[in-house]
Amino acid sequence: MTSAGHGCDLFAQAPAALAVIVDGRIARINTLAQHILEADTPDELIGRALFDFVHPMDLAQTQIRLRRLESSQEPNPATELRLLSLRGNLRVVATSSRLCAYRGGQALLIVALDMTRRHLIQAQMRDNEQNLRRLFESMQDVYYRTDTQGVVQMVGPGVRRVLGYDPQEIIGRPAEDYYPNAADRDAFKQAIREYGEVSDFPGQMVRNDGRVIDISISSHALFDEDGNFAGVEGIYRDVTERTMLERELRLLATTDSLTGIANRRAFLERASERLKHCRRYGSTLVLLILDLDHFKSVNDRFGHVAGDRVLVRFVEASRAELRETDLLGRLGGEEFCVILEEAAANHAMQVIKRIQQRMRHTVFKDDGERYTVTVSAGATTNQPDDRLIERLLERADKALYQAKRAGRDRAVWYQP
Ligand code: GH3
Ligand code: MG
Ligand code: MG
Repeated sequence: MTSAGHGCDLFAQAPAALAVIVDGRIARINTLAQHILEADTPDELIGRALFDFVHPMDLAQTQIRLRRLESSQEPNPATELRLLSLRGNLRVVATSSRLCAYRGGQALLIVALDMTRRHLIQAQMRDNEQNLRRLFESMQDVYYRTDTQGVVQMVGPGVRRVLGYDPQEIIGRPAEDYYPNAADRDAFKQAIREYGEVSDFPGQMVRNDGRVIDISISSHALFDEDGNFAGVEGIYRDVTERTMLERELRLLATTDSLTGIANRRAFLERASERLKHCRRYGSTLVLLILDLDHFKSVNDRFGHVAGDRVLVRFVEASRAELRETDLLGRLGGEEFCVILEEAAANHAMQVIKRIQQRMRHTVFKDDGERYTVTVSAGATTNQPDDRLIERLLERADKALYQAKRAGRDRAVWYQP
């Protein structure tokens, strides 16, 4: 190797691609330049026209830049330039050039740094960003961020569909403004404070047309570098339709389709809750079982449809004598059950009597015949050691049996 300072070595060792162009053709080239242009040897490049390697899109611009150099002693400002390698691959370089003396004549000295990788990464990032933006724009959910005061800092375009507002209309306003019940927002804030995040948290919001919608929020608290609360970020979605469907399904699953009152399962569930409550607070309830008398013969004489009508009229009669807070359910067939809260035995017996009275006065007409249907009932109240509603049902059933035995159309209070 020759000593330092020898021009030849510096040219070869420069940490940049270098090329000397004479009359528009490559006269010299160093290894880095050779690599950029993907040549195995310098010979593949020497003598080739510089413009053979400039990307067609950058050709005109490059010609102008080089022409400017002809009247200048200064290098031209660095620029980004697209090249095509010997193998036809795109190369992006940061490049600058100047005129220089070379072997008794004038040449063009070009320096270039390979930026291809960075360029690709940037393109990828742009791509990612665009994908993210597209995702953001088309998301069914509404992305949002609020600051420490609950003021909306950011909200996604989905808010147009969900709340009917432009994002700009909402940004800068308190999130509270869109909640019909302050309690909803308070419960949400409390959960965020307690757990740092919530998932599928239920709530309601008001649209710009005044309609209240059911929403579900998933969010988490944000913290700054010092660990201080910095706001909340998350998504919410309109679940009105889902909630309505759920409500409908629940109704279907808990209601007797003929009479619209609670079915057996729903009734027993609610009755058990009531009993639990009574145990906790030492209060009383009364359970009644009401059973239509000789109902089979109604079906036999007038048909099932007539029987159904009697069942519906019986429920109407019962409802008319019960309070809002009393529970009424159909245990099955022509057997019904009632829970009266805080009722004394004599009051309960009065209620039954009035229902029976109503039925006696309800006249059905079928096949030219007029008939009435009577009702028998058994009643009991909760005892301190009653843990299950079934105990009360058993006792009321025994009392009912006695009422039937005694001739029907009467009520019996359970006696041990
Ligand atoms: P009792 O006075 O001893 O209670 O006699 P009953 O005929 O009322 O009692 P039983 O249990 O023998 O007959 C009940 C009848 O109720 C039998 C069944 O066909 C009828 N039933 C049960 N569910 C329905 C219903 O949804 N619609 C109609 N129309 N009839 C029903
Ligand atoms: Mg019956
Ligand atoms: Mg029966």
